[in-house]
Amino acid sequence: MSEFTSDDVPRANGMPRLGLGTWENTDPDACANAVETALETGYRHIDTAQAYGNEESVGRGLANADVDREDVFLATKVWIDHADHDGVIESTEESLNKLGVDYLDLLYIHWPGRTYDPEETLSALEELKAEGTIKHIGVSNFERRHIEEAQEIMDEPIFANQVEMHPFLQQRQLRSFMDETDIELVAYSPLARGDVFGDDVLGDIAADHDASEAQVALAWLREKGVTAIPKATSADHIVDNWESLGVELSDAELRRIDAIDTAERRVDPGFAPWNALPDQ
Ligand code: NAP
Repeated sequence: MSEFTSDDVPRANGMPRLGLGTWENTDPDACANAVETALETGYRHIDTAQAYGNEESVGRGLANADVDREDVFLATKVWIDHADHDGVIESTEESLNKLGVDYLDLLYIHWPGRTYDPEETLSALEELKAEGTIKHIGVSNFERRHIEEAQEIMDEPIFANQVEMHPFLQQRQLRSFMDETDIELVAYSPLARGDVFGDDVLGDIAADHDASEAQVALAWLREKGVTAIPKATSADHIVDNWESLGVELSDAELRRIDAIDTAERRVDPGFAPWNALPDQ
């Protein structure tokens, strides 16, 4: 049993700032077990996506855990092959069925690409919010220009922008823009997909705290005021990440991590907006 409870996790407008990621957790039992274990450990924020192919397993874990649905902040993402108006509405209905829930706390549009059309996609998200199917509208992998364009169009606020962030990709410019807005930053791949292990700076700091590099990365993200959603499959990893709540970094340690001056993406598909040609 951990000394930390769900009450120890800071919240951003109701969203717990530490959640469980589930990308590539495709084995149905492993995924359901991870979600159940996380919820029983104290996690109250679960992140999935239509594209992960595991919404049914996530739903099973949610149903199996001894935690009320209302106490969980559940997020999924609309895939960009059906980001047209009707595609958003219909695929969200499918997500609800697979997850076995009647509302979502947060629905993201996964990328600003392919069938994403600001007017169509965002109006569908606003309709889902107006009817109570989703509590909040999210965007993911949006750059400043996409956020500004969306804000021009939308009457409803954007709740969160989920982007890659970890000590090797600190998102300084995007963060400084987002700090001027009310939009929460949700950090995906917060462990750099496992690459935080083996880094000298994180390793030194971890050794001084008798902690893991994962815990140090998560403590740094917490100090930055962002939400982190590490993916973990085993109970050991799920609990290790949870125990980051007990790691307090000194100002000097935070500065050492801040000084890591790389901008290395672990998630970089060809359709990402930063890979698009300028005239596209
Ligand atoms: P991540 O969370 O940075 O790293 C996950 C990797 O680290 C897995 O291999 C995991 O292994 C391992 N791990 C986790 N905790 C560990 C620990 N305490 N000790 C040792 N190893 C540990 O990578 P991610 O999955 O890319 O990102 C997290 C979540 O963000 C995703 O699952 C997804 O929900 C979301 N995401 C969103 C987008 C987007 O476009 N919006 C893109 C990427 C990710 P095990 O699985 O074996 O535990």
